Amino acid sequence: MTDIFALEDIHVAYGKVEAVRGVSLSMQAGTITSVIGPNGAGKTTLLAAAIGLLPSTGAVRFKGEDIAHLGVEDRVELGLCLVPETRELFGEMSVVDNLMLGAYARRSARRRMPGLLDDVYDRFPRLAERRDQQADTLSGGERQMLAVGRALMSEPQLLMLDEPSLGLAPLIVIEILDIVKSLRHEGVSVLLVEQNALAALDCSDHGYVLESGELSFSGASAALKADQRIFETYLGGL
Ligand code: ATP
Repeated sequence: MTDIFALEDIHVAYGKVEAVRGVSLSMQAGTITSVIGPNGAGKTTLLAAAIGLLPSTGAVRFKGEDIAHLGVEDRVELGLCLVPETRELFGEMSVVDNLMLGAYARRSARRRMPGLLDDVYDRFPRLAERRDQQADTLSGGERQMLAVGRALMSEPQLLMLDEPSLGLAPLIVIEILDIVKSLRHEGVSVLLVEQNALAALDCSDHGYVLESGELSFSGASAALKADQRIFETYLGGL
């Protein structure tokens, strides 16, 4: 089976500092892949390179084709989407307006706007209840739902999530990650970057561990969770 997405020998530098050094990973369609690792390991940098926000060397393959030469807009048009750690909502705009902006990112989605909005409201009833509310007035969990909902409005085939659990209460993290898990049944593949290693491994099929810009471990998420070294380093070693 062709991988839906693969990174091959990716390097990203900030000036002379190489933040990502030779990272290669691959993921099959309809799966959730997590990248875990400590603060400053290069996780955000890796996603920024994958979506084309930062220049990198190496190949970025989507359905087998190297798209590394494409800019962000063209990658989004192909079906990639990134929900950044900062969520980047328009706080003074309503929930529905934020959602509609998501569909404007992609031509095919723009045409299917009303149906896509209904789908997002079905998935996130709380967004439907608050559709006319200003995004600023939402709780942290609702803002994260809005960020994911807005991404889904572009009908992505590959959804990249940067630290969706950041700043959220444990029960809300479970709620958000349950929604992420449900996406795989609808043909959305997810690349999930998390410092919350346990939550990420619980939610994903396959995991990679990034340390100081390099991958140190990879494998089935269940196997990573059971690995003593990973358990001690990233899962609290309890
Ligand atoms: P976090 O979980 O804190 O976001 P991370 O694993 O996502 O961490 P990155 O944010 O990708 O890590 O950072 C990787 C390295 O690159 C760090 O050493 C960081 O200090 C450095 N870095 C990140 N952004 C910049 C920047 N704009 N300019 C210079 N160095 C940067």
